Amino acid sequence: MARQGYVIVDYSDDFSDTVDDDSDAEDARRRCHLTLAPRRDGSGVGASSSHRLLFFDLPSSLNTPAACLQPRSEREVRQGSIPKKDPESSMDIDDAPAQPRNKLPDHLELQRTRVVCKADAPTHTEGFQYSGAFAAMGVDNSVSVEKFCTDFKIKINRLTEDDMEFDMIGVDASIANAFRRILIAEVPTMAIEKVLMVDNTSVIADEVLSHRLGLIPLDADPRLFDYISNDTPSERNTIVYKLHVSCAKGSQRLTVKSGQLEWLPEGSQLTIASPAQPGEKPKTYTSFGQSQKKMSERPLGVKYEDITIARLGPGQAIELEAHAVKGVGKVHAKWSPVATAWYRMLPEVVLLKEFTDGDAEQLVKKCPVNVFDIEELGNGKKRAVVAKPRACTLCRECIKVAADKVKVTKAKVDDKDKADGKVDEGKAEVDDVEVEPQIELRRVRDHFIFTIESTGALPPEVLFKEAVKILEEKCERVISELS
Ligand code: SF4
Repeated sequence: MARQGYVIVDYSDDFSDTVDDDSDAEDARRRCHLTLAPRRDGSGVGASSSHRLLFFDLPSSLNTPAACLQPRSEREVRQGSIPKKDPESSMDIDDAPAQPRNKLPDHLELQRTRVVCKADAPTHTEGFQYSGAFAAMGVDNSVSVEKFCTDFKIKINRLTEDDMEFDMIGVDASIANAFRRILIAEVPTMAIEKVLMVDNTSVIADEVLSHRLGLIPLDADPRLFDYISNDTPSERNTIVYKLHVSCAKGSQRLTVKSGQLEWLPEGSQLTIASPAQPGEKPKTYTSFGQSQKKMSERPLGVKYEDITIARLGPGQAIELEAHAVKGVGKVHAKWSPVATAWYRMLPEVVLLKEFTDGDAEQLVKKCPVNVFDIEELGNGKKRAVVAKPRACTLCRECIKVAADKVKVTKAKVDDKDKADGKVDEGKAEVDDVEVEPQIELRRVRDHFIFTIESTGALPPEVLFKEAVKILEEKCERVISELS
């Protein structure tokens, strides 16, 4: 009796190690990355770095320990990831077809390049970054600059003043995630950090009002400014805004908006001390050497003028000065230049069988984002095709449709068999029927659909360029530390 198995066959006869029992075999399998093979005389399992991966039926005479076998289900065979075998076949090891070198078998190539999303959870989610991961099959999995230069692509799909969507192709998830994290936490912006409160008779407490002011996006290019290092505010590191509003007694309630913040290009107007000599400028909370109007072509105001800061009742007033400085999101979220930066892997929807006529219509109706479409085949025949796979949100509704159809068919067959007396009453419930997948939902592992939404300080494409520069600086720092 033959058993279907999945083993590494070593044709070199150069076994560097031999294991004879199940636990040793399992241990060796883990350590050697599946570099196991049954010995030809069936006396044990050899481990070697020179081998080939094959699928075949193991003759029981080989007496191979069960631990080195990876049984394949009929389902995987039907999905095409494993060559279909005749269960009764008893092919000998030496008859197994050779896998061409420098090419992975289809099912391993699928695992290397795709995440497969099953009904309950995704599989093969881990990356294969280890350079020798497929050395056993003669495939070089190392990362090279030449390969990166050939494969890496950026394709912009949408670009507006505030957001952009682009495809980033040919990088690992770790690189895409590095850009996401740098965008959120390390690209600097300007934000209000210090509030000098002169008067606040509104119902909002000083600290709450200051916090609200800190979160207002400023229309100021952070590249024009330095970080404030020694707490000496100058025109190079501080932007000053003034807010002076009041609600007259007997009038309607007043809403204070962000547009009422007034930019002071000459610096603070609040004096610390009177001038020592007549004719001297009074000392203020900032020491600007020149007007900031010379630094920027446009006024350094707020990005959005309709953000509500406070509501004032009759007789209430707010008078304050707000000082904005340069900072990064990892210190406080108010300095984060993006409302959000996120990515998703490119969806791939594969129909494992043909959906025709009524089934096709049902499938098209079920998808909430119209991934599927109907193709007319003539003579009133039609079939479902995957028209817009990028839109897939992985809701898995289509998998449920396919599964329900199989269950209904199964239930009809069971009912008929019961009526014909071919099966006993109490046969397995329909819900317990293992449903063969008819649609496979995949994600392309090195293709990311990246979205950046700017808060307004810098356009999204400039933010991404800044993120690239920051990652480059980090790499240079690491290289210089190592050299
Ligand atoms: S998973 Fe949802 S969105 Fe994706 S193809 Fe299926 S039904 Fe459509």
